[in-house]
Amino acid sequence: MKHARVACFGSIHEAVRIEGKLQLTDGRLVGEEEVVWLPPLEVGTIFALGLNYADHANEISFKAPEEPLVFLKGPNTLIGHNGETRRPVDVDMMHYECELAVIIGKKARNVKREDAYNYVSGYTIANDYAIRDYLENYYRPNLAVKNRDTLTPIGPWFVDKEDIPDPMNLKLYTYVNGDLKQEGSTKDMVFDIPFLIEYLSSFMTLNENDIILTGTPKGTVNVVEGDEVVVEIEGIGKLRNKIVSDKVFQR
Ligand code: MG
Repeated sequence: MKHARVACFGSIHEAVRIEGKLQLTDGRLVGEEEVVWLPPLEVGTIFALGLNYADHANEISFKAPEEPLVFLKGPNTLIGHNGETRRPVDVDMMHYECELAVIIGKKARNVKREDAYNYVSGYTIANDYAIRDYLENYYRPNLAVKNRDTLTPIGPWFVDKEDIPDPMNLKLYTYVNGDLKQEGSTKDMVFDIPFLIEYLSSFMTLNENDIILTGTPKGTVNVVEGDEVVVEIEGIGKLRNKIVSDKVFQR
């Protein structure tokens, strides 16, 4: 089942996808273009993997790490499907990152890799935008690169784990203004999902609705004001958003 959170009829609703439409929990059916899409779950801690596909690491002149390179993102960064992402006017390199987002389903501590999927409730798609201009060097916190408002579109759907039998073999695609720019497969991750759950839960507790953004393959290119960016993952959906400039924000 595909689940969503949307705003319509003056309030916020949970919904499921039925025959190409959204069915709200009160039974009403609405079209996908008739609603405002919100992040598909109320997200807890957001973990994000850096350089978790070797081809992307090479593309930006880094070697793939020998242990997971994980950072946190704030909830201020999240926006829903069809939202707008802000590109500062004075930057030279802002790129998208199509990523499989793993949703944790229950409290997890010291989980072994063979049990890891028991702690997953489902999957969604994240676009983990980066503004490379703000990366001072590899070892500094990348707050300004990754934690600006609107830099993480997420959704449209929360897809139940049962509907994705092999999350480690899914095609990923990114389209900019309709042109295919990024293509890869989750099978090329450096650290796979069971490893990441074992690793993170070995030193901290994971909670329901925490999410892990698992990194992006190669094919990241600059995007500018007016671009429409669609990130797609096989079996999960297509997440669309638009790049806007500071002008929209009156400064
Ligand atoms: Mg990323």
